[in-house]
Amino acid sequence: MPNTGRGVTMKKTICDDALRLDMTELRRLGLLQRTERHGIVLRWRRGEQVIARMYCALRSLSASAALLRLSYDISETSRESKGFDYEILLVKSKCYFGGVRDWFMCPLSKEGRPCGRRCRVLYLPHGAQYFGCRLCYELTYESRQRHRNRFYEGIAKPWDKRDKAREKLLRARKPKTMRKLAERIWQADMAIKQYCREQRMA
Ligand SMILES: [Zn+2]
Repeated sequence: MPNTGRGVTMKKTICDDALRLDMTELRRLGLLQRTERHGIVLRWRRGEQVIARMYCALRSLSASAALLRLSYDISETSRESKGFDYEILLVKSKCYFGGVRDWFMCPLSKEGRPCGRRCRVLYLPHGAQYFGCRLCYELTYESRQRHRNRFYEGIAKPWDKRDKAREKLLRARKPKTMRKLAERIWQADMAIKQYCREQRMA
């Protein structure tokens, strides 16, 4: 399997913007259950529109390993597109309570080292060329990012503002400045209380 050109250069893309190749979906489509070589076409949609399509074919290597061939085009400009055709190793592991589980082996390499991480979902972020695991692409989930933003806006920022205002209040001499700072502290207090109330309700 060639490793050239599969280095990762992208950072912190959001999962929701990437195409997902999900093992559960491949099983649902019947690709994993058959033993003879066969293929399917996967399509990704945004609303009604097909935004990407890919041909996938499975070739069994042994009882516990197979190669999944992926063929797809990526448009480089509005007129030109580049074709990609490569194989990804799939492995099976036995479940503790019986049955088997299928895994992709991440085909990317990072800083010259192959990743080879076992995963259930591979991603193709916007602007990338090869499917790879979430960690290689340093993907974050939007909800987690949103949570961080909410935390920052809701508590970290008012907390910081309140601390600064308290410090200034200790040194303040003019009644007007004191009133302004007291108002700032009160507002930050209210914002923090509001955030805490929302968190309890959530
Ligand atoms: Zn990886």
